[in-house]
Amino acid sequence: MMLQVAVLSFLLCSAHSFSVKVLIDGSDESSGNTIEDDEFTVSARLEKANANLGKNLGDPVVIFGDIAVPSGLQNADPCTARGCLWPKAPDGNVYIPFRISRQFSRRQREIIIEGLRSFERTTCIRFTPLERQRDFVDIQSRSGCFSFIGRRGRGQVVSLNRQGCVFLDTIQHEMLHALGFHHEQSRSDRDENVRILFENIRPGLENQFDKVQTNNLGTPYDYNSVMHYGRFAFSKNRQPTILPIPDPSVPIGRATEMSANDILRVNRLYACNSTSSNHHPKPVQRTVFWEK
Ligand SMILES: [Zn+2]
Repeated sequence: MMLQVAVLSFLLCSAHSFSVKVLIDGSDESSGNTIEDDEFTVSARLEKANANLGKNLGDPVVIFGDIAVPSGLQNADPCTARGCLWPKAPDGNVYIPFRISRQFSRRQREIIIEGLRSFERTTCIRFTPLERQRDFVDIQSRSGCFSFIGRRGRGQVVSLNRQGCVFLDTIQHEMLHALGFHHEQSRSDRDENVRILFENIRPGLENQFDKVQTNNLGTPYDYNSVMHYGRFAFSKNRQPTILPIPDPSVPIGRATEMSANDILRVNRLYACNSTSSNHHPKPVQRTVFWEK
């Protein structure tokens, strides 16, 4: 409870307007790991777009930067073992109905649909236009970018704010939450892979860096996951908040799309059969729907 209020109260917009270069452990400017270099990372976008999150009464409670939680339920643990996976159809695919709000322009709608379709090329996830299904993803432009973890039942909002969230990486990031995934730096094994510099985190936002007991699905910790935050996420002083171990100069959180590991995890979590899930030319169109 306390954590949620704190998160909502202190999400401040990062101006990213200084020209000061941040030097990391003696590395020079050519490291490409300055705060300016991170301006267009997924987490920088989320942080910026979510600056006003929580000021509207209709907004859900959001923790970990962009993860919505049902009111009265503070637990953001992965729920995939308890039934929040999206169901598999008899043909081996996982059909997830979606609806896109009219708030979006035609171009934005195209970008969102392209983001949804990107899952079809490499996984058995098939986003399909909502017809009469009970559970679906309701894509709206609310006060920021956020999503619930996994299937919540009935229409669940995935917010992609028109001003700051309609990008391929951000769409994939939020849809991965809806599929049941957490942030990479929340993984149970993160302390072996990154060091969190709590002294540089904005006061009240330390819980953004809490660990979650995740099912890592036998995949390695991945700095290039589209679910990994950048090294300056929620920094109060333009100093890094996340540094890789052992080499702090390794780039992190720079993914512009799902990594091979992100894709592998989807395929493992949903037990996708690679032979049946490929070569599905127009999956967004109505094919076979599976209803409970
Ligand atoms: Zn997120």
